[in-house]
Parts: sequence; C-alpha cells; structure tokens
Amino acid sequence: MLKDLAKPVMYLKGVGEKRSTLYEKLDVHTVYDLLYHFPRYYIDLNDPISLKDAPLNEQCVVKARVVRKMNPARIRQGLTVYKVIMTDDTADITVVIYNAGYMYDSIDPEGEYYLVGKITGSGIRREMNSPQMYSTSDADMVQPVYRLTEGITQKMLRLNMHNALEVFNSFIYEPVPKDIVRENGLCSLGYALQNIHFPTDMHTCELAKQRLVFDELLTLALGMLLMKRRSRERAGCPMEDKDMSPFYEALPFELTGGQKSAIDDCIKDMHNDFPMNRLVQGDVGSGKTAVAAGAAYFAYLNGCQTALMAPTEILATQHYETMKAFLGPLGVEVVLLTGSMTAKKKASVKESIANGECAVVVGTHALVQTTTVFSKLGLVITDEQHRFGVEQRAMLAGKGDNPHKLVMSATPIPRTLALMIYGDLDISVLKELPSGRQPVETYAVTGNLRERAFGYVKKHLDEGRQGYIVCPMIEESDSDLQDVKSYAKQLQTGFFKDYRVGLLHGRLAPDKKEKIMKQFKEHKLDLLVSTTVVEVGVDVPNAAIMLIENSDRFGLSQLHQLRGRVGRGQYKSTCVLLTDKPTEAVVKRLKILSSTNDGFVISQEDLKIRGPGDFFGSRQHGLPKLKIADMSQDMEVLVKAQEAAKALLAADPELTAPEHTGLHELVERLFQQNVGSD
Ligand code: ADP
Ligand code: MG
Repeated sequence: MLKDLAKPVMYLKGVGEKRSTLYEKLDVHTVYDLLYHFPRYYIDLNDPISLKDAPLNEQCVVKARVVRKMNPARIRQGLTVYKVIMTDDTADITVVIYNAGYMYDSIDPEGEYYLVGKITGSGIRREMNSPQMYSTSDADMVQPVYRLTEGITQKMLRLNMHNALEVFNSFIYEPVPKDIVRENGLCSLGYALQNIHFPTDMHTCELAKQRLVFDELLTLALGMLLMKRRSRERAGCPMEDKDMSPFYEALPFELTGGQKSAIDDCIKDMHNDFPMNRLVQGDVGSGKTAVAAGAAYFAYLNGCQTALMAPTEILATQHYETMKAFLGPLGVEVVLLTGSMTAKKKASVKESIANGECAVVVGTHALVQTTTVFSKLGLVITDEQHRFGVEQRAMLAGKGDNPHKLVMSATPIPRTLALMIYGDLDISVLKELPSGRQPVETYAVTGNLRERAFGYVKKHLDEGRQGYIVCPMIEESDSDLQDVKSYAKQLQTGFFKDYRVGLLHGRLAPDKKEKIMKQFKEHKLDLLVSTTVVEVGVDVPNAAIMLIENSDRFGLSQLHQLRGRVGRGQYKSTCVLLTDKPTEAVVKRLKILSSTNDGFVISQEDLKIRGPGDFFGSRQHGLPKLKIADMSQDMEVLVKAQEAAKALLAADPELTAPEHTGLHELVERLFQQNVGSD
C-alpha cells in the first residue's frame, strides 16, 4: 500500500548515501518518514512589512528589489564581503553576505525578493546580514522551518520535501476510508501533506493539521482498541456466582451506589473466560478499598488468591489492616508482605502464600519478587497504578494463570483521556463520596498569617483532633531534609511544645516510618509534620486539620490529594494553604481549591494551567509518542477519532478487510516505532 513511500530516502533525487545517513539522525529513514517530518513552525511571507516601518534587531519579513550589486570586497584572507543595495521605495537597505559567493551570484540584478532576517544599524545605514532570500517570482508563500541536524539545511530539506511530495502524488495513497474522511469534514491526505509543508496561507495549514491530527488519533484509538480485544482472547480464571451477602452484611457501613456498582462490574467481569481489566477511578476518600475487598472476597469464594500491591509500605500496611478488618471476620486469611519484614517473617509468609493457606496478600514491590510464588492467583489489584511501571504490573500478573486485574486510581483524569491512556481497561467511576462526609474547608493564606494559622491548628488539637503540617521537599536532598527537620524541631520546641509532634519523611527507614504512622493512627501523636509521603491513601479519621507550607510549589491535583487526608471521619475538617509568594497567579490557583472539592474539576483546571505534562510528560502511561496531535488540546478530535475507531472495529474487528489494509499498516507503524524507544 505504501509502495514507493516505504523506500529509503536515498530513493529521492538529490539524496545520496551521505545525506541519507544524516537523515537517520532525524529518525527519517524512508520517504514516508520524511513526509511525516513536520515543520516546527512557519515563516509567513504573505504580509511583509515596509522597510520604513520594519523594526530593528528582530526577525522580520520585508519585500524589496535589487538596486545595485556592489563589487565584492575581499577584506582579508578567508573573508569576502558581498553587498547588495535593495529598496521597496519606502526605504533602502543593504544586504550583507559573508563569503557565500554562490548566494551573491544567484541574486538576479533585476530581481525582487522576500528577505527574512534582522535589520541592524540606524538611519539610512540599515543592513540585513545574511538574510534568507526568496524570489518573489517563485517562492512558497509560507516557508516551513524544520528541525535539522548538522549537514542538512532548511533549503536542502525543503527541496527534498518537494521531491517526496512528488513521489506521494505519483500514485494514490489514502489509508483512511472515504466516508470517515467525509463525515469528519477532513481534507484529503494529499492536500494535508502538501499544505502541512508548503501551505499557501495559515488557513490551509490549519486544514492540513486537522487531517493529520485526526489520522494520528484514529490510529492510536484503533491500536488501543485492538490491544484490548487481543487481551480478551487469552483465557483467565473464570469464576462463578457466589453468595456475596456475608461481605455486605459484615461491612461497618452502607456502600455508596458507586461502590456497589463497581463491585458488580468486577463480579460480572470475573465471570468471563477472559481476564478482567478494570480501573476503579474515584476521588480521594471515595472508598476504593472497599471495592477491592469486595472483588477479593468474590475471588476467595471461588477458591482463588488475591494480590494487592501498593506503592509504599505505609499504604500496604494500611490496606492490609483494612482488608483484614473487612475480610478477617469472614474467615479469609489476609497476610502482609513488605520489603522491610525480617527474612524469617518473609519466608513464613511466602510459605503460606505458596501453599494456598492465605487468600489475600497485601504488599509492596516485594510481591513481584521471583521468590514469591502463589498457589492459585486469580486476582491482581494495584493501587495508585501510576506509580508502578508497566513491567511491574505485568510481572505480578504473570504469577497467576492470566489473573483478573483491577486497578485503583485517584487521578481524576477526563474520561476521554482515561480511555486513551488505559485504552485496554474498562472503567468504573466512584462518583459520590460516602455519606456524612463533609467537604474540607480550604483557605489560602499568606505567610504573615502563619502564627494565626498555627493557632487554628492548636484549637483543633485542643478539641481532641489530630493534624498534619505538610512541607514540600522538592528534592530528596540533604539540605531540603535539614530544612524539614529543623522546621519540625522548631514547631516541637516552640509553638507546639505542649503537644506530641512526629516527623515523617521519605528518607526514614521503612520500619521507622511505619512506627510513626502507627503512633499517629493510634493518637499517640497529635501533630504529624510530614513531607508529601502522606499524599496517597493514608487514612486517619480523627485528623481534621491540615496546614500546607509553600503550597504554591504544589500542583492543584497534588494539593487536592493531600487535603484528602483530612475529612475522613465525622469531624468538620479544614485545610490551610500557606504561601509566602502570593503572586496573582498563585492566588488564583489556590482559590480554585477553596472553591471546589471536586477532584474532576480540579484536574481539569490543572490541565489548563500546567498543561498536560503531569499526564503525558512522564510517559508512564505507556502510550506511543505522537508526532502532531496533542491529547490535551485536541480533545474534540480525540472523541471523534475514538468514535470512528469503534465504528470501524464493529464492522471489521481485526481490521483485516482489504479496504482497511492502509489503516492496519498505520496502527502497526505507530506501535512498532515505539517499542523499545523508552
Ligand atoms: P480511597 O478511595 O481514597 O482509597 P478509602 O478506601 O481509603 O478511600 O476509604 C476512605 C475511608 O472511608 C475509609 O475509612 C473507609 O473505611 C471509609 N468508607 C469507605 N466506604 C464507605 C462508605 N460507603 N460509607 C462510609 N465510610 C466508608
Ligand atoms: Mg486509597
């Protein structure tokens, strides 16, 4: 289908062996690759500025004709200066060219040119040094500017691109079915490629971009959906109907509607003969652990083991306790396995996992070690999955015979994005918080009110509540750690000397961390000074006040996660955001948090303010690299592309129909290129 487009760039006129090796550096191997090497930006020649009005020392476009070519001046060995006087009738300008005789020679003494460059000098002695010159008789009106590599110039690349487009136009290549192109109001691929490189104006360029963005997102959506299908082909451990009522009856509370239907979703999935792949997405405090417990109980009733993996020891321990509380009374054996346990303890726990005595194993990375062997692993649950690499999850899943998979995440990303990122997952959303939960009142205050804020914390402690003071540790560096330590000490010996203050940070040994967390949970500490290690999942219902230092340094979503540590019990809870840098932008940002408790709204705002870096920067989502689409900007196109992809696969599930060969090829390209590129 790709025909000549799949040939090496060397195939193009003017591209020899040498240049094609240079192209390799730009990741351009074939003619096709070259066509998809898009410009970084454009220089628009359509609106030249008059020489009279042209600014000094900044890049501009002017249009002028040659008045006189001066004789070359050989200044010294190796330096020849060529000057050309030009005018546009509003003013004159001297074009200065150093050494490049061929450029000087190519200037037509009668010609008119667009000049792109910086004007220097003053008054009548104005110059433009080595401008880019394009003859007005045959210039592309919008000049593409490409990412280059040493040895390849813009001019060469443009020339080669013209040739590549010629090859493209020599036959018909249109991978996307016509009706999809039509229904989405897109231009043809030929038009798109022509106009992304050499648009006649910025409007045609925009049309071209729309088409190319659509193609890319369609390809991505198809790939994700195909992957989802394929993962369904493998057999899992199918389970059958069981009486879940003991679980519901033993719970100390009534489940929310969202929790109930999430558990139902899981049970339904686990009936299938292909493995469940489900994401439970719920804001902090929405009660995801209870859903996990329900799914684990169902697996237990079916004679299967469940592994629950948490990113930190604190969280693992807490999950262990919760699971034990929910499931222990029902006769389910729950064990904990973490890296910090003694070798002896670990060995005995592993023994009970291997012989099938224990039904639920909660742990950290220790769970994925090769020495951990399960007797019959049927369900794998991971909490806060963005902290785990794809491989870790795969390794744990590999310990069973295609176990069912459940992922819990508090990152409230928009549904369309979630679908893309977790394309091969089904999603259950926990919309409401458990009843009786009060929103956390949030105030942003400046540093000069710090004493008052401390007083406010004290008031809560005096009422028998507990509190957190969170300070950011930007780097896990010694000096930052020193800052946090001395800050905690100051509080303990100063303002809070009559209270029990603990310090928690990421550099503490796991058992030490554990101990402090336990003390706090048991109310042997009143105040916990902490770095962001409390961010995920820590649950102390009696904690009702949180003060966050330097809150301007956190992202909104992170602040929201942090404050989710309070307001977990029946007490009215407060979060105070302190900042010593109350710039307008900071104040605006922090105000969003005082105005809403909706994690979804907050993440949307975060996305707007900070860009998609958090979601897409790390590439932890495992998506292929995109060339032209930006998933946070092109959201509408994304939705359309997803719809088109679904419709396509409904009619042709494996994309094997002859008219879909082109699309199939695109999907393979996109996903292949990215294998091993991380
Ligand atoms: P998260 O979704 O943030 O992981 P958790 O599972 O830690 O939330 O639950 C937060 C707290 O709410 C826990 O103390 C849990 O026992 C409690 N909880 C969960 N579901 C309910 C419910 N339906 N009603 C009342 N409390 C609940
Ligand atoms: Mg949790």
